Amino acid sequence: CYNICEKRYNMDEIKINDIIEVTVTGIQKYGAFVLINDKYDGLIHISEISSGYVKNIKAKNPNLIVAVCGCMSQQKENAEYLYKTYPYVDIIFGTNNLHMFKDFIKKHEEERKHNIYHSEEFGLEGENVAMHRTSGSNAWVNIMQGCNNFCSYCIVPYVRGRERSRKMEDILREVREISVNPQYETITLLGQNVNSYGKELGTTFVSLLKAVCEVEGNFKVTFMTSHPKDLSSEVIDFIATSDKMLKQIHLPVQSGSNKILKLMNRNYTVEKYLGIIDEIKAKIPNCFLSTDIIVGFPEETEEDFEGTCELLKKVKYDKVFAFMYSKRNGTPAAIMEGQIPEEVKNKRVNIILIGEEQDVLYILEGLSKKGFKNLYYFENGYNGYVQAKGSEFVPELGCGC
Ligand code: SF4
Repeated sequence: CYNICEKRYNMDEIKINDIIEVTVTGIQKYGAFVLINDKYDGLIHISEISSGYVKNIKAKNPNLIVAVCGCMSQQKENAEYLYKTYPYVDIIFGTNNLHMFKDFIKKHEEERKHNIYHSEEFGLEGENVAMHRTSGSNAWVNIMQGCNNFCSYCIVPYVRGRERSRKMEDILREVREISVNPQYETITLLGQNVNSYGKELGTTFVSLLKAVCEVEGNFKVTFMTSHPKDLSSEVIDFIATSDKMLKQIHLPVQSGSNKILKLMNRNYTVEKYLGIIDEIKAKIPNCFLSTDIIVGFPEETEEDFEGTCELLKKVKYDKVFAFMYSKRNGTPAAIMEGQIPEEVKNKRVNIILIGEEQDVLYILEGLSKKGFKNLYYFENGYNGYVQAKGSEFVPELGCGC
């Protein structure tokens, strides 16, 4: 969860010095662990950890407060499962209650009770709460919450609700505050489907981009995530012509098979997607292009998978986030026929990233031909993998849109 990992609600008033932020392999599908401890100086980030590890350090230090938050723990049944299964987790809450984190900690300090906090209310209340940012030279700025797209594998519309855009004036106020801090070189506007920004407010995403770029300051602007069905020519034109916009676009394709895209309910075809890529390449030469791929979606045949490999060869992305499909309870894809065995998913993700076949190795060569050194890939801890070149700035977290 970006809000937990990249910018923390200001905890100063409850005098907690340290938050250990962790992503947990054991119960990762339910959310991110946050361990709070007043014994340490400074901040400790742990990128990957097992739930057994958390249990052990809690046993050694009973004053440690263990909290779990995420999209999955926003679902009541998942929160209840966590409550029953992990008694050493003190606070369980969902993304709807994120802005109340410090209240939950205060309450826990008073009562010392294992607790679930659940709310079905989808709002934007948390967006204007003071932040303590921990994301280095990049500042994340939420511009909207929720999603109306209902991709068949995705839990977001159920746990984050329908699209709600923040008022432009609130976003610009946050951007102005960031702009006067020389630490921030980049501002990343963040939403599940940023191109839908402003529909209910009578404005557009490109109007927001223009307004943000008019704010004085020595920073660059980028955004994530764009849905291919919504990325407009106006946005591409603005990226091409504005000095303030980073020349990079993250455009998740998910599959190179029209059959699978239809089953995923993505509402675009491979041909439409490649048309957008052609437009980007024509208007923004050397644009840094990245994407998300899901392999092993239900009913994915070898031929469908080949389509994805072909698409990768055609586009020659600068960075690819590849995920093995995993079920999210409550989504249509979780109960689809034709679920793919884990070993097949594993083999396919490895073909994309490492290249077991000669023609797939060409993908790596294609990237190298662009002059990139230190091409690498790594597990990102969420059954997903990243294949990328080394040093340039790109957002390090894919949201799977
Ligand atoms: Fe929305 Fe992205 Fe989820 Fe699709 S994958 S439903 S666009 S958040």
